[in-house]
Amino acid sequence: MPEVERPLVVVANRLPVSRGPDGWQASSGGLVTALRPVIEEAGGAWIGWDDDPDGVPSRVDGLDCELHAVELTVPQVRGYYHGFANRTLWPLFHDLVVQPVIDRQWWQTYEAVNRRFAERVERVLQAAPATALVWIHDYHLMLLPELVRQRSGGSPIGFFLHIPFPPPELFARLPWRDQLLNGLLGADAIGFHTAQYRDNFIRSVQRLFSGVTAIGDTLVLPDGRQVRAVAHPISIDADEFSELANTDDTERELAELCDQFAGRKVFLGVDRLDYTKGIRHRLQSLELLLERNPQLRRETAFVQIAVPSRDDVQEYRQLRTSVETEVGRINGRFTEPGHDVPVHYLYRGVSRTALAAYYRLADVMCVTPLKDGMNLVAKEFVTVQAASKGTGVLLLSEFCGTAMEFNDDAVRTNPFDVEGQSYLMESVLGLDEVERRARLRRMAEVVRAADVYRWVHDELAGIERGSLGL
Ligand code: UDP
Repeated sequence: MPEVERPLVVVANRLPVSRGPDGWQASSGGLVTALRPVIEEAGGAWIGWDDDPDGVPSRVDGLDCELHAVELTVPQVRGYYHGFANRTLWPLFHDLVVQPVIDRQWWQTYEAVNRRFAERVERVLQAAPATALVWIHDYHLMLLPELVRQRSGGSPIGFFLHIPFPPPELFARLPWRDQLLNGLLGADAIGFHTAQYRDNFIRSVQRLFSGVTAIGDTLVLPDGRQVRAVAHPISIDADEFSELANTDDTERELAELCDQFAGRKVFLGVDRLDYTKGIRHRLQSLELLLERNPQLRRETAFVQIAVPSRDDVQEYRQLRTSVETEVGRINGRFTEPGHDVPVHYLYRGVSRTALAAYYRLADVMCVTPLKDGMNLVAKEFVTVQAASKGTGVLLLSEFCGTAMEFNDDAVRTNPFDVEGQSYLMESVLGLDEVERRARLRRMAEVVRAADVYRWVHDELAGIERGSLGL
């Protein structure tokens, strides 16, 4: 646990709570879990958008943290969140896997909403018992570091980008590129998942702002202030997933799945239904695989868990239609009389226990995004497999942050090469078991050595050091 000396104010698009059947509860994500001990020790607040029509409580059981909801109107949510964040920044920062929409009104709303967040941060800082550390998260709030600096009275300010930062020549297309960089440079320390994203950011700053000097990972601004830009991959709560791998509930779910898929090799995909995740390309690879190998139509199953996401956005609705068309076509082509369908498609989230059971079941985990900032599913899979002495193979896109950490222990794929990927899916089935176990062990060790607790500790320490110019 980090040695915390100051209260912590976290600012993110969402608050770390959700409404379940028994009322409000703390969210179960790794970031919230890892921050909980820090916030409980030093005190803290979390500021986020009030995205529940009945309002969000200022505290929930099990999370000792003040919750400050920023109220947004329907047009503000449309322009800031569905518009600029998810239809302009998201596709641009994921290397244009779809075309970003450029809309001046969305931009104006994004600016206005960032200012609203800044006003709320200012009020929270004024009420804090001591100078708090402000930690701002993600692409929804890229103007906030500078807006907070103008109002903060000396608080250390950190920012973490949870998505990739694109190459400078792509970033430069954005009409409001200077404003975004200027916003980010208000932070003392800016974290990215990989050295490549960090370098893209530094090169963008150098290309667009002539007075900035880069010395290693430190940017020196024209007024002499320093900003540290660090590469620091986020991770999971590895102990939690190791335990989850072997609970009685997981064993029970697994036994049912093993019955269901008896005698078949299982390929698994677990993704939010997002066009960055490469789900269609993956299905097309499967189709080629089954086309070439008629015997595999009975001997393999492909399970795709597609968690509903952003269905207010047009591109996501279109994606759902095309994925479901693809699934229907493959099952229509290859299902044989008296046998199960090759593709099992679940358009919903599953419980954590079920997720662990699927991770254990999988012979091949297909994490094949076209672009992904990090990808935690890959880390969860290797952790669960290693903890249960499994022999699953990780097929991992070279275009996701996790690939930088796992090197050759994952089988690397280029998801744009649909045919090449189909041959990889075929060849991994022949990988030797001893080799598979050794690879899983090494990847799980990478995850365990740099888990989400370590990530929080290092991030907070880096922001503190950055604010002191160290
Ligand atoms: N996940 C979940 N419910 C599901 C399937 C997945 O909560 O039914 C979780 C999964 O455990 C992982 C997260 O969703 O922690 C996905 O994170 P990732 O980094 O892979 O992708 P993102 O959705 O952030 O783009």
